[in-house]
Amino acid sequence: MKKIRIAIDGPASSGKSTVAKQLAQKLQYVYLDTGAMYRCMTLSLLEHHVDLTDETLVSEWIKKQKIEFITHDNQQSVLLNGENVTLAIREARVSKHVSLISSYKHVREELVRQQRAYIQQGGIIMDGRDIGTVVMPEAELKIFMVASAYERAKRRYQEHVQRGDYTQSVEEIQRQIEKRDYIDSTRLESPLTKANDAIEIDTTELNINQVVEKIMSYL
Ligand code: C5P
Repeated sequence: MKKIRIAIDGPASSGKSTVAKQLAQKLQYVYLDTGAMYRCMTLSLLEHHVDLTDETLVSEWIKKQKIEFITHDNQQSVLLNGENVTLAIREARVSKHVSLISSYKHVREELVRQQRAYIQQGGIIMDGRDIGTVVMPEAELKIFMVASAYERAKRRYQEHVQRGDYTQSVEEIQRQIEKRDYIDSTRLESPLTKANDAIEIDTTELNINQVVEKIMSYL
């Protein structure tokens, strides 16, 4: 089968990365989690106590950070300046601030430039908010995944529980998700929107395998 480029966008916790990872494994494609890149930058800023509201300072800072993805035993890890931050970037403090950081024009320009370097002729899956519209508008297949905010919060809660993290209730997570969606969809720079040629999949009532199979059928 000809290798193509696949863009998966959608709001927070709609299942994009789980589905993208499975598809990448099935198809032997490269997978790029662009949200992880915005999260790495946010973590770095928090760890170094950079004033998050100072857009100029933030934009300068992120240019000096190095993000790398490594794959080991089919598991992808993300390194920030050589340190494995795969778990740290999922912490609540990062989720809380990431949408502010990703709303900054120069932050987006820098990360989109880095993301585009991964684009090859074919055989790539990227997930995020602006992949089908800005990063990879030439993608042959574009998917826009949605699910109800409650369902998404429940899924994220389950992930927390699996890690032994009981600090947030489903309701708190839902509030955070809705806040992040609001900032992501209303920001000036490449807001979360469905590309005109994207196929929308509502995953509220579907499990991961069903979504993967649906996307496979579009290939
Ligand atoms: O995908 P994930 O939920 O991990 O993304 C974290 C945040 O990064 C999003 O809420 C959004 O603010 C930002 N993001 C973005 N553009 C992307 C991917 C993520 O603005 N392509």
